[in-house]
Amino acid sequence: MASDSGYMERPVVSTDPNGDQSPQLSAQWDRIRTRLHSEVGDGEYRSWLRHMTLAGLDGDEITVQLPNRFHRDWVREHYGARISALWQAENAAVRRVDIRVGTPVAAAGGTDGLIVSPALLRTKAAAKIESKAEERPRPEEREAAGLDQRFTFEGFVVGKPNEFAYACARRVAEQPASTGFNPLFLYGGVGLGKTHLMHAIAWELTGCGQPARPSSVAYMSAEKFMYRFIAAIRSQSTMEFKEQLRSVDVLMIDDLQFLIGKDNTQEEFFHTFNALVDAGKQIVVSADKSPSDLSGLEDRLRTRLGCGMVADLHATTFELRISILEAKAARSGVPVPHKVMEFLAHKITTNVRELEGALNRLIAHANLFGRPVTLDATQEVLHDILKAHDRRVTIDEIQRKVVEHYNLRLTDMSSARRARAVARPRQVAMFLAKQLTSRSLPEIGRKFGNRDHTTVMHAVTRVGELMERDAGFAEDVELLRRMLES
Ligand code: ADP
Ligand code: MG
Repeated sequence: MASDSGYMERPVVSTDPNGDQSPQLSAQWDRIRTRLHSEVGDGEYRSWLRHMTLAGLDGDEITVQLPNRFHRDWVREHYGARISALWQAENAAVRRVDIRVGTPVAAAGGTDGLIVSPALLRTKAAAKIESKAEERPRPEEREAAGLDQRFTFEGFVVGKPNEFAYACARRVAEQPASTGFNPLFLYGGVGLGKTHLMHAIAWELTGCGQPARPSSVAYMSAEKFMYRFIAAIRSQSTMEFKEQLRSVDVLMIDDLQFLIGKDNTQEEFFHTFNALVDAGKQIVVSADKSPSDLSGLEDRLRTRLGCGMVADLHATTFELRISILEAKAARSGVPVPHKVMEFLAHKITTNVRELEGALNRLIAHANLFGRPVTLDATQEVLHDILKAHDRRVTIDEIQRKVVEHYNLRLTDMSSARRARAVARPRQVAMFLAKQLTSRSLPEIGRKFGNRDHTTVMHAVTRVGELMERDAGFAEDVELLRRMLES
């Protein structure tokens, strides 16, 4: 490593709310680079990896910078997974590594800020409450900060539940402020892609690859909007704040529900909103509920929010979750068996962020230990996540799952039919009921059309035998068990 010391810039931009880059982080980073160096060899390291600098740790995400797109793409593609794995091994707090274009800047104030793009789109800190010292409104907030490359339209998997919202977002990105689409109001539950779509719009509008004059876009969470506003009042610079906001082409406010009960900020937002719409500028807002359900928001604001296009991101379906997993797994380059994806899509149903997090962890693990992703490994690696999604299994649930899996009707579970196609799944359900619940054999028998406890016992033995003999069958039962397990 000594030969590289000249290139080992100290990380200088810290997004850590505590201020400077911690020495631990630097030490970890040094170890990771040494390790990479020895793994890839001198030539490869000098060509690509020595250009990396550490930007900082933000929440659970490490940001690594490279001087240009070319280097970034190369490093991301060839070493991204490895770097993630090494980080996760070094530092338990790290869940993700973001590799982006950026150069170390000697900026003391951090990169937090109001986004007045093109070059600038600061989104990460928006979710966070910064210390008061950082809240000084600075008129010249034009530090360079990258767009989050993951949150593009291309990276968004479209399915029935989100196709409408996606189409609306696309439309706004193509023709901001067109009639009928202003404001665009995106709403839906946590982790369904609201922020992703907003970034995608910003990404598109700030002119990647478009020769036309890029629009200036301001994106911030409602929370950030409030802190900015309060800080402006405190430092008697509300005029500047207003002017800054009213000078943009597109204003995006994420998680508007945060403004409920914050009357003064709401009022300010309302005026900004009106000023921008009157000037023919585009507004994009997201919230967890539709405008009419956002009780606690002033009526006149709710009314205006509902005046443009209101698009709902519905809960994901199993199919969409599978598509998302497929897309993300394909990008990682690590083969993920379909059974594993099915398992994850069954287990983690409400939040795409968690689904993604689970997959990333599997991939990081596979990369780190050079082992393939299997159902077993999945259960081991994701033990804690899966546990959080677990609930007590009932015989009814077991029957429903089994019936769904074998394409039968629920009545088949209690019917007297003895045809193999019905009897075998019924036995599987009894076996699972014995394994996964604390019900006694007679109790289980009763749930299956008042069968005798000896019938249940026979089913349990028979399924056990079959599993030993028939690997395909065993895998099926295993999958069902894992899906149901508590
Ligand atoms: P929200 O803002 O609605 O809470 P986010 O936009 O932050 O949710 O999405 C959470 C995570 O899930 C992000 O990493 C995002 O990229 C991912 N995600 C959500 N929906 C999709 C989708 N349809 N395709 C790809 N990724 C998605
Ligand atoms: Mg969000």
